[in-house]
Amino acid sequence: MSIEENIIALNQEIKEICKKAGRAKDEITLIAVTKYVTIERTKEVVNAGVADIAENRLEGLLEKQTVHYDHPVTWHFIGNLQSRKVKGLINQIDYFHALDRISIAKEINKRAEKEIKCFVQVNVSGEATKNGLKPEEVIQFIDELKAFNKIKVVGLMTMAPHTRDEAIIRSVFQKLRALRDEVMNQQWEHAPCQGLSMGMSNDYQIAIEEGATHLRIGSLIVNEEG
Ligand SMILES: *Cc1c(COP(=O)(O)O)cnc(C)c1O
Repeated sequence: MSIEENIIALNQEIKEICKKAGRAKDEITLIAVTKYVTIERTKEVVNAGVADIAENRLEGLLEKQTVHYDHPVTWHFIGNLQSRKVKGLINQIDYFHALDRISIAKEINKRAEKEIKCFVQVNVSGEATKNGLKPEEVIQFIDELKAFNKIKVVGLMTMAPHTRDEAIIRSVFQKLRALRDEVMNQQWEHAPCQGLSMGMSNDYQIAIEEGATHLRIGSLIVNEEG
């Protein structure tokens, strides 16, 4: 199927899952992850009506931004960010999904020319290969982010383990949601934290059922894997 057909099918599927789950489709932002593909294919994604694009490397993001798109694009950065790359990146994006260190927060605060909407990344599954805070570190970490006036915590982000066991995936998403509720209950002005950035090509159905507000979907849209 073409990118456009993939997006039509995906939107239909999201709509159906929302309906079954008793959720409104407009609570969910579909973010297309274009890290695997060229500028031309990224244009196809935007032309097919997806306004949110994500990259996980600075170079990839800047490359994708060298051209004009026929529709306005909201840019998301979903990768691990090194301090020395903050300067070149932070004013190019609308959302940063992988905040997990105070050193990065400090650098963002120094370099950002406007408020940056950030998701705090949590390693719910505890896998050694994954970035993110331990769940028990999250409240204190976000409390400390008060000191940085350019950082707005709009939500939490996680990646579920790569497994066919739905119960494991579901429990990871449920834990992130519970943690999100805990942060929201603090009613911190710098951290409204309404968002849940979770759900990728393999597990977005479960993520929607468990309350995802931002889906990050790559391979299913562009027919490619990393
Ligand atoms: C690559 C990537 C995705 C998209 O994964 P797919 O399985 O291709 O949908 C989502 N989130 C992050 C952080 C990624 O690096």
